[in-house]
Amino acid sequence: MLTLIPAFQDNYIYLVATAHGLWIVDPGDAQPVLNYLDSQQLRPTAILCTHHHADHVGGVGALVEHYDIPVFGHGARIPQLSHPVAEGSLEIDGEAVQVLEVPGHTLDHIAYHWQDYVFCGDTLFAAGCGRIFEGDPQMMYASLQKLAALPDSTQICCAHEYTESNLRFAAAVEPERPAIEERKQQVARLRAQHRPSLPSTLQEERQSNPFLRCREADVIRAARAHGARNDSEVEVFAALRHWKDRFH
Ligand SMILES: [Zn+2]
Repeated sequence: MLTLIPAFQDNYIYLVATAHGLWIVDPGDAQPVLNYLDSQQLRPTAILCTHHHADHVGGVGALVEHYDIPVFGHGARIPQLSHPVAEGSLEIDGEAVQVLEVPGHTLDHIAYHWQDYVFCGDTLFAAGCGRIFEGDPQMMYASLQKLAALPDSTQICCAHEYTESNLRFAAAVEPERPAIEERKQQVARLRAQHRPSLPSTLQEERQSNPFLRCREADVIRAARAHGARNDSEVEVFAALRHWKDRFH
């Protein structure tokens, strides 16, 4: 079972209740997590970090002081990291978890694939993708393709509520696409009720996320009008990402 705890302006911290444990994914802030756990009288069993940015790990220190639980993550920049992980399979609380290395937003970025969920931090967003801070477009595109290779039904548990603005950009890339228009309306309804637009499914992303549609003729055409020098997927992706960086 999944619980989304809002934090800061637009972050989500995920609580994942498994058969034998309770995981906290990307606790940028400890207080909202502590409040929720106290109110429900729950005890967490592990912390999973996708990358080192403060809005994902800022609450780790306070939480481990409180609960003394293992901290999973990749690379040297995760605070209180006790269980370093890399690409491959591992077991957490008796559950099979697949770690995917997905660098690009940061070099230490990983995603956790468990059952039908993927916790992908700031790589793949609903209808968008993260900014490229430490990698390059080729690296980021390969990471997104790795996530896109998961089953259609995979639930995309990304860390930010950016879906509405991402869909505005998607509509600028593919103005004629009904799937994007429908999704805009569906997300607007959820947000009007202050409900999260997440998780989405990979199936939805394939239909309306321009960054997963770099092979589509309309997307290529739009990218070519915004700086892509050829039709290669990475070139199209790079032009889209650069365009989005300036898009409001
Ligand atoms: Zn980040």
